[in-house]
Order: sequence, then structure tokens, then C-alpha cells
Amino acid sequence: MKGNNANRRKFLKTASIGSLGAASAVSSQAISAPAILSGKKRIMVGRFSDETNTFIPHKRTLAEAKRGARYGNDVIRRSGGCMGGFADICEMFDVELIGSIGVGGNHRLMEEEVFDYVTGYMVDTLDKNQVDAVYLAVHGGGCTEGHDDLEGETLEIIRKKVGPDIPIMFTMDLHCQVTPLMTQVADAVRIYRTYPHVDGFECGLEVGSIMMATLQNKIKPVMAVKKLPLMIGPPINVVTADEPIRRVYARAREMQRTIPGVLSVNPAHGFMQQDIPTQGVGVLVTTDGDKELAQKLADEIGDMMFSQRKDYWIHLPDAEEGVKLALKSDKPVAIADGGDNMGAGGSGDGTHLFRELLRQNVKSAVIQIHDAEAAKIAAAKGEGATVTVDVGGKSDPLNGSPVTVTGKISRILYRENNTSPAVRMEVGGVTLLINSRRIGPNNQRNLREIGINTEKYQMTVCKGGFAFRPAYPSTIFNYIVCETPGYSSTKLDSFTWKRIPRPMYPLDDI
Ligand SMILES: [Zn+2]
Repeated sequence: MKGNNANRRKFLKTASIGSLGAASAVSSQAISAPAILSGKKRIMVGRFSDETNTFIPHKRTLAEAKRGARYGNDVIRRSGGCMGGFADICEMFDVELIGSIGVGGNHRLMEEEVFDYVTGYMVDTLDKNQVDAVYLAVHGGGCTEGHDDLEGETLEIIRKKVGPDIPIMFTMDLHCQVTPLMTQVADAVRIYRTYPHVDGFECGLEVGSIMMATLQNKIKPVMAVKKLPLMIGPPINVVTADEPIRRVYARAREMQRTIPGVLSVNPAHGFMQQDIPTQGVGVLVTTDGDKELAQKLADEIGDMMFSQRKDYWIHLPDAEEGVKLALKSDKPVAIADGGDNMGAGGSGDGTHLFRELLRQNVKSAVIQIHDAEAAKIAAAKGEGATVTVDVGGKSDPLNGSPVTVTGKISRILYRENNTSPAVRMEVGGVTLLINSRRIGPNNQRNLREIGINTEKYQMTVCKGGFAFRPAYPSTIFNYIVCETPGYSSTKLDSFTWKRIPRPMYPLDDI
């Protein structure tokens, strides 16, 4: 969700009726009187995070991480997300933000140098600047070669640097691995409560309010954690607006609304494609100074999540069955290519579903494949030409082999100084979009740019888990999630597990 004034007004309205629990009275009063902080406060902000898929054999190097890094004020993006919400609250309180460094990942295990570089940079920022607090906007699923709990261990380094009295707070994606370390080294957290994710901005606003009340010495946040021997999925069956997980979030919100002293109740789904000791669903609760209460509530939410463990896992069709089901649908269908979920590290060049569309001679379908080589070869022929080209399946045999297709090029779109063509080809009834760049399925902008209206097709393959749902609204589309092979597969027994704690549901029947 984009940060804007409407969101801010909506939040302030809800804050005053108690969305922050006991702190709400404190923080909403404070928000309505922005000059209340005594003296000019300074908060260091940064970002270092990833959703690392430890099954991808390729690494992310320091050079790659540096290329995507932001520094100083560029870390503070006012356009939305957690950082945007946090920055908005700080602006209202006239708090100065000191941007340090922002580094994200691309689902690949980071080389060890990346950890040393980023944490070193943050420590350096703290050396050069006196600050009153620290805020990190992180994902919570990051790993480097030597650090399984990238975000927790980063917070730990910061805690060692600033000492015990400076508040450290953070926000996370709900696909995070919560850890006991996080509760020991930081003061407060807010985790997304929506999947697909649309509440980043609210997360930033909420933790920002907790931060402001803390800096006013009106509250003293503490955290507790509950960790469970549970992996949750597949994505289509853990949408936060739907059962069975909806009731968990309803209870979390109720706790926050009705129990005095509760600042933030956060169920977390974990990220299943990680073979690490901190694997598993968890809960982080922040209260005002009451560790025992925080633990009690974390335990209650955790027990609730675990007790309904058998409800999360449902049968998913393979590619053949998925396409057959889509052919029977009375509405357009968005088919998730579960094994090639680009939001979980998939390469975007998987061909299992493409091959199946052709094999079943589907008359009306759209699929995008990431293949710079094929795009270049096809683009060289020009619009209107008929071309034969090998598409996709080049990154790893797990994603399927390349598919040799002959089709007519209906449109070519050049981006970035003519070096990155997107080529639209008609292959029988299948409209194939070959992308030079990695383009995920979470919006349809690039499809529209090249004249593809997915509502007019019987089925569209989306290389995602289920985060694409807002871009393919249920008023128009039916959804089918296919369990195709790949790094992001939710077929857990297709991976070799060496480091996760056992027993672990559903790998073990507990
Ligand atoms: Zn996520």
C-alpha cells in the first residue's frame, strides 16, 4: 500500500480508538501534539534483509549487493512501505532521521562479505552520529553463508554498539523466521499482518508510534517469542483474509485492541524454502514492560496456529491437472506456477506449464518467460516475422528444459536504450511474452504495455505463489495453484533437509 495522506489520516483515526492497545492513549495524544518530544531526537534507520531460498545453488556476491545498495537519505523512501510509514510519524514529531545503508537480496544465499560490509557500515554510521534510537525495516528471512538469522544478528551488532538504553525497533515481512535473539536485542517489532502484503505502510506507522511513545518515556516495550515445529503453506491456503489463518489474525488484533499493555501481536509464517535451524512458524509479541504477558499471548497465538496445522496443507494439482482444471473454468483463470515463484527465488524461466499449455493445445492462454537470449534472437527478426526459437528452461534442469516454438512476433517493446526487448509471440492459441528482464507477476503493467489484456484470455500463468492476487482480482479471475517442480516448490519432501529442527510438521507427523 502506498503511503499517502489518506492512509495517515485513517491510521491516526484508528490509533485514537485503540489500535495500539494501552499505548494508544499515549501515542494518539502524542500524535495530536507533535511538539511534545523534549529536545531534537535523532534516529538511525537502515535496511538489510532478504528472503533467502537456501536451495538455490547460486550465491549473491558483495559486488551485486553493492550495486543495489542505497546510502544516507536514499534509504528513507517516503513513497510507502514500512520505511515510509515510519518516516511519516517521525516527520510529525520533528525527529531527524539519519539514513545509514539499505541492502536487500534476491533470494540467493549472500556471501559472508555482504554481512560484514553492511553491519560495518551501520556501525560506522553510529560512530559518526549520536542517535537516540535505531529503526530497521527488514524482511526477516535473510541468510548469509555464516549467519542463518541475518536480521537478528544485525540487530545484535547494533545493540552491542549502542548499549542497553537506546531503543531498537524493527518491522518485518510475515515470511520471516522469528528468533529468540530478536527479543533479546531489540525492543519492539511490527510484522505484516496481510498476505498478499498490503500493510507495509501501516506497519511503519505503528512501530513509529511505539517508538515515539518510548522516546517520551511513556512506555517501555519488551518482546517475547513463541517458536513452533511447523511449516505453513501452501500460499493459496494461508491468505490472511481467508480461513484457516484469518481467525489467528482476528485473535491477534483482538488482543491488541482489548488487553491493556499490549502493543503489537505478530503471527509469522516463516519461509519454507530454508534449511536452517531457525526454520518454523512463530509469534512475536510486544507489550509495555510486561514480559510475562507478552509470553502468555505469544504462546496462545502459537498454540492456535499449531492446533490447526492439518488445515493449512491441501492437495495441489500438477501442471497437467492444473491446465485441465483451468479449461473447465467459467471465468478467466490465474494459474500460479508454484515451483517457479519469482517472489521466492524462482528464475522465471520454468517451462513445465508452458509445455503443458502446448501439449493440451490450449486455445487461449498467456504466459511470460524470462529469457534474455531468446528475446534477443526473436527481436532481431522484427515484428510480423515468424520465428523458431528455444524458450526458457535454461537456468536449471529443475525448471524444465527449453521449449522449441515457432510463432509469429506480434509486438516488440524495447526498454533501457534498446538493450532489453520484450517480445510478444503468438504460438497457436498461446500468447507468449519473452522478457529480457526479470519481471514478476505482482502487477500487470508490462502486460498492458505490450497490449495483452489477460481478462480476455481463458488462462494466464503467473510465476508466483499467490502474492499476485491483488493484480488478478477474484471478481474477474479464478485461481489455480500448481505444484510444479522448482526451487520454490511447496512439495517439501522434494528437498533434502539437513539443518532444520525435527520433528517438523508436515515433514513429520506430529
Ligand atoms: Zn512475504
